[in-house]
Amino acid sequence: MAVQESLKKVRTPWVERISRELAAGEGVRAGFSEQLERFYDLLEQSIVTGDMAWLDSILYDWGRSPTETNLEQADYNVSFILTRMISLTLELARDQLKPKDALELLTAIIPVLTHSLGVVIRYEMETRVAHISKELGAVQDKLQALDQNKSKFISVAAHELKTPLTLIEGYTSMMADLVQHSGQPQMKSYLEGVNTGILRLRDIIDDMIDVSLIDNHLLTLNIQPMWVNHLLNLASNEFKKSIAERNQSLVINEFEGSDLMIYGDSERLYQALSNLIANAIKYTPDNGQVAIGGRLLPGFIEITVKDTGIGISPEDQALIFEKFGQLGKEDLHSSGKVKFKGGGPGLGLSITRGIIEAHGGTIWVESEGYDEVKLPGSTFHILLPTRTEPTNPVLVKFFGNLEQQIETELRGKENPPTDNPPA
Ligand code: ADP
Repeated sequence: MAVQESLKKVRTPWVERISRELAAGEGVRAGFSEQLERFYDLLEQSIVTGDMAWLDSILYDWGRSPTETNLEQADYNVSFILTRMISLTLELARDQLKPKDALELLTAIIPVLTHSLGVVIRYEMETRVAHISKELGAVQDKLQALDQNKSKFISVAAHELKTPLTLIEGYTSMMADLVQHSGQPQMKSYLEGVNTGILRLRDIIDDMIDVSLIDNHLLTLNIQPMWVNHLLNLASNEFKKSIAERNQSLVINEFEGSDLMIYGDSERLYQALSNLIANAIKYTPDNGQVAIGGRLLPGFIEITVKDTGIGISPEDQALIFEKFGQLGKEDLHSSGKVKFKGGGPGLGLSITRGIIEAHGGTIWVESEGYDEVKLPGSTFHILLPTRTEPTNPVLVKFFGNLEQQIETELRGKENPPTDNPPA
């Protein structure tokens, strides 16, 4: 019997058997049989003409048809149907035809069905990948919205805290004046305690404002000629007292390039450097050492801050540069800036990174790991481009002004307290 005749002979049982086996329920079965009839027509055309493209349109429709539930549950429905279709066709040919006719039919039909299976798998995969990308996009949008909310919250909270803090500062200073003349020494020391708290709070609020400037890409730099060794000298003086309190030593190794005039925002770079030094002191036990050095590289200056402290585990080394990336326990938070392991709000390194990146530089840390007994230490590296010309004086001037405006806006105007009590 010719293949075409065999095709005609098995058509009705083929449609019946496949729809009975694969379609659940009467209602679904009618529609499914219709699809199978259409498929069978195109299958015949493909076999007769030897061109499998006849099946492309129906396979495309099937491959792209998964419902949302199929997609969410990762069901590969159509590929499953085609796989079953191949094995049912084998059974049917064996049941309905003589062995020779069955062999001829299967030789013609199986390559077309396996080709169809390949096409459907590809379409189903593409549909699934598109679905996953869409879901991922939605999640990313949500995360972005959350992050924006968080950064807005930080900026509003910082602004709102600044005004009452200014009031407290003003009244404390007036009280200090009164106490000075009242001859109550105990009162004076209480007020000094309040003052320390105020200064710490101001630092935290300033950090919150800086983080929100960085998050919103609003950190602009006041680029001017500067020298790295000036920053090192400043740091050496500023940290003398803390280093002595902790019985540590601070070694500053001037290096080739530290006396080079470069262009940068010296105030912001000093802020970055002192964050690293304060951390080095904080995370190094008493009697340890903090060493600052660096080197000149082609187009860059590298500054290193090395300590003999508790170190940082490799998995935490990227985390610490994220905002709120502190690793210590909440209960270790300290009002002292350089108390051993006295963690802060976890904003320092994220600000430091923001400042360095705004200069076109990078920052990273090297440490063999965290160990409070062996004290492997950490070395923070800053790589700064050695710009020997201002980027663009007009832009710098413009951004300089813009920065002032933004800072004034974010920090709020200082409200000097009056003699009237606050409302
Ligand atoms: P924090 O306010 O907690 O000090 P930072 O952003 O400055 O926040 O630092 C984030 C975390 O990185 C710290 O909580 C600490 O766990 C870790 N860290 C920073 N510097 C060092 C260092 N020199 N040695 C060990 N750990 C460090």
